Amino acid sequence: MNAESCAVLRGRHYRTGNVVEVAVAEGVIRSVIDVSASPSEGNLPWLAPGLVDLQVNGCYGWDMNALPLRPETVSELTRALLRDGVTAYCPTIITNGSPAIEQAAGAIAAAVRGDSAAAASIAGIHLEGPFISPEDGPRGAHPREHVGPPDWEAFRRWQEAAEGLIRIVTVSPEWPGSAAFISRCAESGVLVSIGHTAASPEQIREAVSAGAVLSTHLGNGAHLTLPRHPNYLWEQLAADELHGCMIADGFHLPPAVLKVILRMKGKKAILVSDAVSFCGMPPGAYRHHIGGDVVLTPEGKLHVADHPNLLAGSAMPLLEQVAYLASRELAGLGEAWDCGSAHPAELLGLPQAAGLEAGAPADLVLFERNGNAMHVLITYKGGCPVA
Ligand SMILES: [Zn+2]
Repeated sequence: MNAESCAVLRGRHYRTGNVVEVAVAEGVIRSVIDVSASPSEGNLPWLAPGLVDLQVNGCYGWDMNALPLRPETVSELTRALLRDGVTAYCPTIITNGSPAIEQAAGAIAAAVRGDSAAAASIAGIHLEGPFISPEDGPRGAHPREHVGPPDWEAFRRWQEAAEGLIRIVTVSPEWPGSAAFISRCAESGVLVSIGHTAASPEQIREAVSAGAVLSTHLGNGAHLTLPRHPNYLWEQLAADELHGCMIADGFHLPPAVLKVILRMKGKKAILVSDAVSFCGMPPGAYRHHIGGDVVLTPEGKLHVADHPNLLAGSAMPLLEQVAYLASRELAGLGEAWDCGSAHPAELLGLPQAAGLEAGAPADLVLFERNGNAMHVLITYKGGCPVA
């Protein structure tokens, strides 16, 4: 089918499990009809809205932070994500020198200009850094020499190079002047996320008052040891204004922490892959320009070669994280899926936030469940099947 034609997809609704017929025309869902009363035809696949990933550094060998970034890399990454059910995403540029950030931002903008699939799928750039904590621990793998206090003029230059595409910026509000920077971002329509932070609870609250709306991979990019209370984790958990992003790959956060974030944040709980370029690749030993020698285990854990307990990034696609939440009964399938779909779409103001409803874009995933695992059978972007 093409975007102009009509089609009816049949599958089990991801929230109810009921068999539904979803009519699609001109890229939009026209109707969703429950036909579970009519005779069943065996094991139908599941049907859900496309996944939305706010933090993607790469996958299948494509790397947003291997410079110089080429627009073709962005296009290839977009197609790989589409095949995995991700119909909207934020390519993520991490802390680097100013010219490097400008170059990467410009390459993503060029991809959006020149490639209709990238234009339709890229919901904006996530700039993670460089205005984050300089401290070991909270800083994570971000290079210390490029970390610094918020600089609006530098940000404006990067936004210009990005042709206005920067949509999320991760900052730590521990720097003086953070509140003013956050206010300016919020006024210009950029979502500010608190992350890689050693901020005090007061600084977290000030950032929220200034307009921060999100926490970047809450519970990771943090000190190994914290005062029991108060601390920046409790403060972000308790801030109802903040959406909370979490990496649910079974390695970054224990199930109890995931459960607490899910319960505290409700419809503001968001799954992010935070995937690096090894995501989707076969298990084995690899070399990374940031993490050095790393190992990807068959279970999907990516660790520093000599230190199995030291994570070297996330390598689990968003779909598998949805499956993780559902299989651990941390959330029902519908809620788990919405954490990777409707909730981030709502934050970004995308029409995909409506989910599997008439009037929403026909960004759809037909998938099967096999025990605890999920597999995409086919992704539809704007009503078109993705090859
Ligand atoms: Zn990070």
